[in-house]
Amino acid sequence: MSTKRGVVMVYTGNGKGKTTAALGLALRASGHGEKIYMVQFRKSDPTYGEIKAIRKFLPTMTVVQSKRSRFRKKGDFEQEDFDDAANVFALGKEAVLSGEYDLVIFDEINFAAYNKLIKVEDILDMLKKRPPHVTVVLTGRYAAEAVMEAADLVSEVREIKHHFHSGIAAQPGVEY
Ligand code: ATP
Ligand code: MG
Repeated sequence: MSTKRGVVMVYTGNGKGKTTAALGLALRASGHGEKIYMVQFRKSDPTYGEIKAIRKFLPTMTVVQSKRSRFRKKGDFEQEDFDDAANVFALGKEAVLSGEYDLVIFDEINFAAYNKLIKVEDILDMLKKRPPHVTVVLTGRYAAEAVMEAADLVSEVREIKHHFHSGIAAQPGVEY
């Protein structure tokens, strides 16, 4: 088991760069041979560049995607969406509590909680039970105040400009 001191990090805000920051951290940790586990809420596409790259180049990293994809209008979710989010959360929580991983990433968990797909109290409970050597990263816009309070680091990515607004649509290698 590692003697490292784990930290809880939140990447939030309305600008682009939260998920890619978490992936950058995973790349760095993998270079040290660290074990990494990432769960993704509302992302089910295994052809995303990062998923293909992780499976090809990062042998110490495990990724689990959700079954359901895309966020909908608030209140527009079905039972399957709640079950799916609960399942994704349970897998990430299990990875944290096992103490087997140096880094556990919950991608889009903040936005999932904002959409009430999972409970903020469940996130706080998981953080409380986190073995001290495990680093946990929580990404997504609109992070809950209580989650940010519980974190050791909070970085907000603020949109100043985004190419989407000038008509440049999502592209491979840039958005996915
Ligand atoms: P990335 O995955 O590129 O690091 P992100 O995780 O910060 O982005 P999310 O909030 O998860 O951003 O949004 C996912 C997608 O929406 C990304 O493809 C991103 O390019 C796009 N996006 C992010 N911020 C904005 C914005 N302010 N306006 C329009 N699209 C955005
Ligand atoms: Mg993201």
